[in-house]
Amino acid sequence: MSRTLLTYAEIRHHQLRQVSFEAVSAAAHIVQDQDQIVTCLFYGSAEDPAEVERYAKELFAHGTKRLYTIAHTDLETYHAEAYFQAFHHVVTTVQPHVILLGHTALGRDLGPRLASAFQAGQLSDVTDIQQQGEHIICTRPLYAGKAVEKRTIQGSPTRPAIITIRPNNIPLQPVQDTTPSRDVVALPYTPPTLRSIVREVVRKTSGKLDLSEAKIIVSGGRGVKSAEGFQPLEELASVLQGAVGASRGACDAGYCDYGLQIGQTGKVVTPEIYIACGISGAIQHLAGMSSSRVIIAINKDPEAPIFKIADYGIVGDLFEVVPLLTAAFRDLLQ
Ligand code: FAD
Repeated sequence: MSRTLLTYAEIRHHQLRQVSFEAVSAAAHIVQDQDQIVTCLFYGSAEDPAEVERYAKELFAHGTKRLYTIAHTDLETYHAEAYFQAFHHVVTTVQPHVILLGHTALGRDLGPRLASAFQAGQLSDVTDIQQQGEHIICTRPLYAGKAVEKRTIQGSPTRPAIITIRPNNIPLQPVQDTTPSRDVVALPYTPPTLRSIVREVVRKTSGKLDLSEAKIIVSGGRGVKSAEGFQPLEELASVLQGAVGASRGACDAGYCDYGLQIGQTGKVVTPEIYIACGISGAIQHLAGMSSSRVIIAINKDPEAPIFKIADYGIVGDLFEVVPLLTAAFRDLLQ
């Protein structure tokens, strides 16, 4: 029986997303033999050999044994039907017993489509993964992070187990193995006629760090009081090379774009450091950030619920505290 694990490498702005390596590391948690880990990636244009070589090198350094690539203009930007068809082709060719995708916008859309097509099981938003005999044990948060469950899943080459992993949770496991037998395979692919086309993708956060992968997030709430009030937070984030996020309170008030919203109905983030500025700490906000490694809260109300989960709390006016922090970190880091 095939024991192949297939991971998907997401590319954004000609860079592999961090979650692509985490998917390979997750695969390494559940196999004895590294030869079983294969990865696929899609291109929107003719293959650039130098770019493929760069991607391959990075993926091999994290444990991928073989890289499958498909290049076609239909795959230039994410298109549900085109990506599903290309991925379906990879799965029928490779016949993996497990498929690992990032729990990203792409993975959340593609995973269930594949699960439905292969009548397979799917576990989403997995934060830890282990092998126990024939079974794969996945840990994932439930009820907006108030509980965790462990679920068992098993796959076969005809009905692969599909798992999406939450970014920033699986520790990377770089490998030292430099055996020359690692290879890149360009898969021949004839795409079907698509029923829709993507005319344009408008990027709202172009050039900015992706919130779900940021190591440091400076987040603002209604306490920021205006769109201009986000400026000191932007400065702090820039000095720390982090990203700016927000509560729904701030988004609803029109201070920032909904693309920044963190929480139950926004993005779920797990940075190393989360700095909450003028955020009260409603349960729906905590659902999106309570797994952050270190939480720092700045709030002028000492009774604000955010302090209950904060590792460090600063009671004070964010418009005084944030610039002081920015200056101190600038001195320290530059
Ligand atoms: P507030 O609760 O108004 O808190 C503002 C805080 O700023 C206060 O604690 C205040 O003391 C402090 N402050 C004011 N001025 C200053 C200052 N100068 N310096 C320092 N501190 C100051 N919320 C989310 O965030 N994400 C979600 O995904 C989300 N999903 C939801 C889903 C549902 C179904 C529902 C019902 C609600 C959801 N909410 C979500 C909304 C949530 O319940 C809260 O209303 C929201 O998080 C409050 O945002 P806030 O903390 O910015 O605002």
